[in-house]
Amino acid sequence: MDLINILPDSVANQIAAGEVVDRPASAVKELLENAMDAGATQIDLVVKDAGRTLIQVIDNGCGMSDSDARLCFERHATSKIHQSNDLFAIHTMGFRGEALASIAAISQVELRTRLHDSELGTQVIIEASQIVSQQPTACAPGTSIAMKNLFFNVPARRNFLKKDSVELSHIEEVFRRVTLIHYDLGFSLTSNGKVLYDLKSGSMLQRISQLYGNPYKERFFNVEEETDMLRIKGFVGKPEYARKTRGEQYLFVNGRFIKHPALSAAVERAYEGMLPDHSYPSYFIGLQVDPARIDINIHPTKTEVKFVDEHAMFAILRSAVKKALGQFTLATELEFNTPPEFNIPPAPKGYVPTAPKISYNPNYNPFSFTPNPSSKSEGNRKHWVNPQATVDFHDIQEQPPLPSPMEEGSGVKPVSCLQVQHRYIVTPLSSGLAVIDQQRAHERILFDQLTQARNNTITQSQTLLFPVNCQFSAADAELFGELLPDLRDYGFAIDAMSQCTFVVTATPPDIKESELQECFDRMLIDYKSSTLQKFNDRSKSLCASLARQMAVKPGKVLTQEEMQQMVADLFACPQADTAPGGKKIITIVKPEELLK
Ligand code: ADP
Ligand code: MG
Repeated sequence: MDLINILPDSVANQIAAGEVVDRPASAVKELLENAMDAGATQIDLVVKDAGRTLIQVIDNGCGMSDSDARLCFERHATSKIHQSNDLFAIHTMGFRGEALASIAAISQVELRTRLHDSELGTQVIIEASQIVSQQPTACAPGTSIAMKNLFFNVPARRNFLKKDSVELSHIEEVFRRVTLIHYDLGFSLTSNGKVLYDLKSGSMLQRISQLYGNPYKERFFNVEEETDMLRIKGFVGKPEYARKTRGEQYLFVNGRFIKHPALSAAVERAYEGMLPDHSYPSYFIGLQVDPARIDINIHPTKTEVKFVDEHAMFAILRSAVKKALGQFTLATELEFNTPPEFNIPPAPKGYVPTAPKISYNPNYNPFSFTPNPSSKSEGNRKHWVNPQATVDFHDIQEQPPLPSPMEEGSGVKPVSCLQVQHRYIVTPLSSGLAVIDQQRAHERILFDQLTQARNNTITQSQTLLFPVNCQFSAADAELFGELLPDLRDYGFAIDAMSQCTFVVTATPPDIKESELQECFDRMLIDYKSSTLQKFNDRSKSLCASLARQMAVKPGKVLTQEEMQQMVADLFACPQADTAPGGKKIITIVKPEELLK
């Protein structure tokens, strides 16, 4: 008895479909690529229920003839290669002629397409690989493909789909991978009727900031290099913005997002010695290579590629990135990576410490470690002594005599503080000399204040004289809307004015009106990236981010009073030694070290 039979096309297509379309995002990728291959300059993506109900791509590309409109759903139907030699000179995104056949096998598709020089277009409806109807239709030149009810005939697969939020984030990732490198084209993404992105054509850096927010413009260096073999054009993240995860690392070859561990390593190697342990640079790098020297064909979803000249490419890429970073290390070496152990310049040879010059108490011995008798064991204040003398460092400017002591009973009297490099506050403690990172200290103080504000029913809040409008991209506005209840808990009064505009009428006490937009932009970036994932509670993450945005930055000159207030506030915090993100705030220079 003969047992073998040839599968009907519809079944074969369904099986093949699993390879090409395993979730809505992969269909999105294929449809966007087809639109680009058709020479479109504007491509609009519309999804409903994260692609489950509808994925539609509308383009203004070349369109198709009546017969192509039917043929395009056949397997191995492609206009992009004609003979096997063409495989070595691929200039298009697609070439296998599988995508539309697969899509038609597992959904209900409506295609409307029109050539630019035709008066009428064609509408084709196809379900589970069966053409349901084809008829002339009036439509704009270009192509619209709507695929409805994905996996309607493959319930097992349909049940495998994740929550909408997960599927939508995959779609957004595909959208970023495509749009980041095709910055010369316009794109939009609409989800459940909301425009999440409306990207105008422009430069790569403009595209990056359209997708990730305005502050991203300052976070990168341009990298550009041209050799016979390879053209490199893109942006590499400044080391100070390195992340704890490999999130924003994008490599493209000939307009296609790729994964290539060796080339990624080349980029990371260029950062050697510039990043703290376990942090990773962000980058968006486009490479152009002769297509004959690539084999894209090794993986059906085509994110893996092989290069003939891999070693040389590694070396060129690494040195190009190094060069881009070089300008950075020279210009602003001090601004990043200054070790937390702050370096006090060594005393010159033969230097003999002299007695303090002003207002000193001759009986006071800063190295006797006697706790301040007046201190109450309140928080960490007990560590903060009140020497009547200022420490005399020959090369540090002396501060004026202290203002009147703070009120009795607080347990603390103000101690002279020095600001060093506009970045550190130096002040004596019982255990030595404290070097305090001003930004981190302020972050800790604000974090604790905000947390308290949230736990109290009465939140401290200042009403603004003039309300401030803040504007976001559609996607950010949606996110911001989600965060509003938390922000209100922290003392903000914010209302939505329109889809993308919010009006702020009150804020927590420490925030400047002029910095609100920037503060929210950065907060959203933190929120979208993984930097905040170490906090398991969303509200805490938000609080840490807010505190970071509001804190004084390095470079801010502080008055004596401000420093004293900050030190007093810091030592009143239960966790005075670490910033909310876990970074060290204080380094103590021990008396032994001082004596040396
Ligand atoms: P491939 O892209 O690998 O050729 P597809 O199944 O994705 O295979 O598409 C089959 C063919 O349908 C393409 O080669 C192209 O000729 C045509 N086609 C698909 N999408 C479009 C579009 N948006 N505009 C014009 N032609 C298209
Ligand atoms: Mg294709």
